[in-house]
Formats: sequence, C-alpha cells, structure tokens
Amino acid sequence: MQQEELFKQLVSHCKEYGFIYPSSEIYDGLGGVYDYGPMGVELKNNLREYWWKAMVQLHENIVGIDSAIFMHPKIWKASGHVDAFNDPLIDNKDSKKRYRADQLIEGEIDRLEAKIEKEVEKARKRFENFDEALFRSTNPRVLEWAKRAEEISQRLANALKANDMAALKALIDELEIADPESGSRNWTEVRQFNLMFSTQLSNIAGEEGKLYLRPETAQGIFVNFLNVLKTSRQKVPFGIAQTGKAFRNEIVARQFIFRMREFEQMEMQFFVRPGTEMEWYEYWKNRRMAWHRAVTPAAQLRFKDHDNLAHYANAAVDIQYEFPFGFKELEGIHSRTDFDLGSHQALSGRKLQYFDPELNEHYVPYVVETSVGLDRMFLAILSTGYTEETVPDAQGEDSTRVVLRIPPPLAPVKCAVLPLVRNKEELVGKAREIFDRLKFHFQCQYDEKDAIGRRYRRQDAVGTPYCITIDFQTLQDDTVTLRERDSMQQERIPVAQVVNIVREKTDMVRLLERL
Ligand code: ATP
Repeated sequence: MQQEELFKQLVSHCKEYGFIYPSSEIYDGLGGVYDYGPMGVELKNNLREYWWKAMVQLHENIVGIDSAIFMHPKIWKASGHVDAFNDPLIDNKDSKKRYRADQLIEGEIDRLEAKIEKEVEKARKRFENFDEALFRSTNPRVLEWAKRAEEISQRLANALKANDMAALKALIDELEIADPESGSRNWTEVRQFNLMFSTQLSNIAGEEGKLYLRPETAQGIFVNFLNVLKTSRQKVPFGIAQTGKAFRNEIVARQFIFRMREFEQMEMQFFVRPGTEMEWYEYWKNRRMAWHRAVTPAAQLRFKDHDNLAHYANAAVDIQYEFPFGFKELEGIHSRTDFDLGSHQALSGRKLQYFDPELNEHYVPYVVETSVGLDRMFLAILSTGYTEETVPDAQGEDSTRVVLRIPPPLAPVKCAVLPLVRNKEELVGKAREIFDRLKFHFQCQYDEKDAIGRRYRRQDAVGTPYCITIDFQTLQDDTVTLRERDSMQQERIPVAQVVNIVREKTDMVRLLERL
C-alpha cells in the first residue's frame, strides 16, 4: 500500500477507535489542535511514563519538576523567543494559502533526494553485485542532483542564519517553486512571524501585563535551576526533567499530530561543567537513541546533524523517524552552552551559578538538552505498529485484520476478558469475577458483545496484547484460553496464572531493562 494511503487509513483508524479526535469537531474543528480519546490517553500516558522512568527513575542524577505554563514575560525576552522565535512565512496570492518559506525550499531538497533514491533503486535492480557507494559517487545524474541539493541547502542555511528574507524569496523564485495545492507561483514577499501565543493579565494593562503561553517547557527548568540545586542535593553534572504542554502559533499546522499548535514536550536539561559538554552531548545522543530503539525498528531511525545552529547552540542533532511522509524530526538534542542560564542571570540580576568543590570555583553550568515531542512519539509508535494483514478466520477463510503491533508495555489495554457467549449467566459471572481481579494489576477491558472473532479483531485494532476467553471448560477446571495478539496463538492456562503471564510481557520493566 502506498505510504500516503496508509497514512490516511491510520488517521481514520485513530478516530474510529478512540485514539485521536479533531478538536471542537461539532463546531467544524480548530486547525492544528487535537483531542485524545479513551485509547489515545492510555497510550499517551504510557509513553510519558516510559520516558519519565527512563530519565528520572533510572538516573540518580536526574530529578523532575512540573512548572507552570504561565511565566514572567521577561523569561521570553531572556530566552530570545520575543526577538528571535520567528518563522519565515509566505502567502500565495491566488490560493490565499500560507506556507513556511524554509519548508517550501526544503521540499525541493526532498524532491532531489527522492530522485536520487529512485535512481539508486533502479540501478540496484539492474546490476548484479551492485556497489551502491560506487554508484552514488560516480553516476553523473546522481552527482548532479546531490550537488544541486547541497547548494540549495547551503543557501537556505545562510539565508536563515542571516535572517535574510529577500534571499529566501529569491530562492523560491529561482527554483520556480509552485504552491503545492494550486500550482500558482504568484507569491507575496517573505515575512517574519512570531510563533508565541499571548494573552493578557486582567489586573495589569498594556505590555506589562502581556503573558505568553510557553512555546517550550525548557525555560521553566532554567528558571528553577537554583531552587532545584538548593533543595535536591544534586551536584553538577545533574539533570532536571519535565513534561508538559507547549504552544506554538505554527503557520502551517499539518500532517495530523506531527505539527500542532498545542502539543506536549518531554524535556531534560543536563547541567555540566563547561568544557565537558561535548562528552555529555555524545552520551545523551546514544542514550536517547537507545530509548527509541527499544520501541521502534532501528531502520526507521537516524541522526541528522543541524546545518543551521540555533542562536543558543554549539552542537545540535535531530533524531529523525521515518514517518509515512518521510524522515522527520522526532527529538532534538542540543548543546545549549551557558546561553540560557547566562541570559537569565543577566536579565534577572540573580547569580545562576554553581560552586564546584573540586575546582574550587563558581561557574554558570553548560547545558545539554534532550527534547522529544510526546505527540510525535505517539504518531511514530502508531505508524510503525499499524498493520493490515490477511489471516484465516474461524472457518479457515482468508480475512483482513488491522492490528496495532505496538510494544505490549505501551498498549492502552493489556488484557481483554471475553466470555465466549453472553447469554449464559455462569460464563458471564465467571468472566466478571476474573475481570474484577485482574483490574487491580493492569488496564483491562471486559467485552461480551458480538461473536468472539469480532471481539478479537476489535482488540487487535487497539493493540491489546492478550485476550482471555472464558468458556464452558473454565467452569469445570478453572482454565481459560489466552490469545496472543501478533501470533494469534492460543493456549490453555489456569486462571491463577493469568496475572503473572500478562504482567511478565506487558510490564514497563521489560522496556527499561533494555536501555
Ligand atoms: P520543527 O523543526 O519540526 O518545527 P523544532 O526544531 O522547532 O521542530 P524543537 O523546538 O526542537 O522543535 O522542539 C522539540 C520537540 O518538540 C521536537 O523534536 C518535536 O518532537 C516537538 N515539537 C516541536 N514543535 C511541535 C509541534 N508544532 N507539534 C508537535 N510537536 C512539536
């Protein structure tokens, strides 16, 4: 199936099975905002827990906080967000659609890269003993496209670095980039657009009372650096972790929950001795990649160094995941120097320093940041897990099933309890009794509606790793059938073993032990 088609099906699957709904749907929706349904909230909570435990519980030198969304407006001045948190936007005069100029240009680079990949694939099929590296370094067409892509990417990076909007416009004109929807090349100039949402305090008029909805959770960590240092007995190097909502007035919010205006981040700022930041940067790159690989196939993940460093960073890399619409950023790892603590120290007049007993000196610590979007992680897990396959039904005929092959510890429901039929009081009573015992251990679902085959399919579609079925034999010998989601294998086990077997496979410990 085409990736585009697969993505469409995934989006409608998310709605149909209660993972994600468009926000305010009865009022025709609100662009770039989504709500999580009963299944979605469980998966999201599990992902957050996986992150929190991997970061805070497994590292003695990382502690958590939960700072408020509203913060003093000066924070956003110090962080650079008031002056520099801008995206270059461009409007198409015919279609009236708005785009990010840098993304339009990146689209051209993606197009050239896709052409190269296609050429490589063609050659791979044509030649026996195909030497890919040799082909890439000698084929004239591939070389020309690669050179072109590199040139465009360099010019884009230079224009962004210099905040040169005219250069971006010139590049769009020169590359003859057309509106992807209407095909028109009738563009406005490129303008800067600040991404922060603002609101007003009721008791202070004017600029003084202007508050911003935080565009990242990181600043809440920086401004609490001293508080945590004093109250947690941590010593540098140590980290502070936090998860929470962030808000960005994205010009084009699209690709479902990949780019939203309200989203959730999971961020950790690691404070280190100046001069050691590159070691820690490498350390966190590896740790974070290991975290992703424990739940996502390695082939769908890669590092991508930043061509264009943000004003605060001296090294930056993205962990990209192969979404159905291509490799895109899932997580950012940045070496942020002492930019943030230094700026807050300068603007607040408070010393944000650490006394290092080994060096016998004070310094402003350097920071290595890891920042992953919870919603993007959610989309990655569902994209990898969503599978349509042909399997035999109860009568041995071919039938299609949709199964979410998500790692069992992340599954919204761990175990479904199903009485074989619902019109037999003893069966239903026994099933209820088992359900009432299991629910203390993990998220379970009781379901007695429809034929058993349909109930299995329903659980497959939401990724439930185990179903147990209570039948007439259960009433005699206290055993049930346990059905495993991926293999659909069934085995008969004593009721007393259900908790242990399901827990063994679905416990978050299984993931954490792999890190
Ligand atoms: P992008 O280049 O895609 O706009 P970014 O580089 O601005 O992302 P960061 O500021 O590094 O993103 O934020 C860290 C993480 O937060 C990202 O890796 C991503 O997972 C998530 N994130 C950022 N913006 C959004 C958004 N609009 N919707 C959903 N998740 C987001």
